[in-house]
Amino acid sequence: MISETTLILFKPDAIQKNVVGQVLARFQDQGFIVRGIKMMTLSDEILAEHYSHIADKPFFPQVRSFMQETPVIALALEGDSVIASVRDLLGPTDSLQAAAGTIRGDFGSKDGDSKMRNICHASDSVEAAAAELKRFFAAGEVFSY
Ligand code: ADP
Repeated sequence: MISETTLILFKPDAIQKNVVGQVLARFQDQGFIVRGIKMMTLSDEILAEHYSHIADKPFFPQVRSFMQETPVIALALEGDSVIASVRDLLGPTDSLQAAAGTIRGDFGSKDGDSKMRNICHASDSVEAAAAELKRFFAAGEVFSY
């Protein structure tokens, strides 16, 4: 097993539904370790960079405005195979398709916006995690202890 660190964002729907603690507990129950955590508002610039892979989609403006409804909470989480494990814990992008027992299945939107309001972002590869940790955490904000 190789220890990795992934970047998670608690999206505005997690903040609005007040379920950050419950979701974080699911990560910690797996033994994953918090290495960095902070609340921040996301600028148009950082969202354009973070979501460059969907920037040309018709729903991108809606996603940008959703991600600015409240501040988000960025989390650097470490553990064995944490990148894939957290994606499994989240479930698929569309909360309606996510099984009960997954984070998106239990807390995501079950309405017309189920593809967008899905509680958390999490890095999907080692390369993405490295780039995203740098994007959301400055040097010294991710801790080894
Ligand atoms: P994931 O976050 O599961 O890796 P993507 O990278 O494909 O998914 O999409 C980024 C984010 O954009 C999603 O988490 C979701 O908030 C939003 N999104 C994706 N697809 C749609 C869609 N068809 N309609 C509205 N929002 C979407």
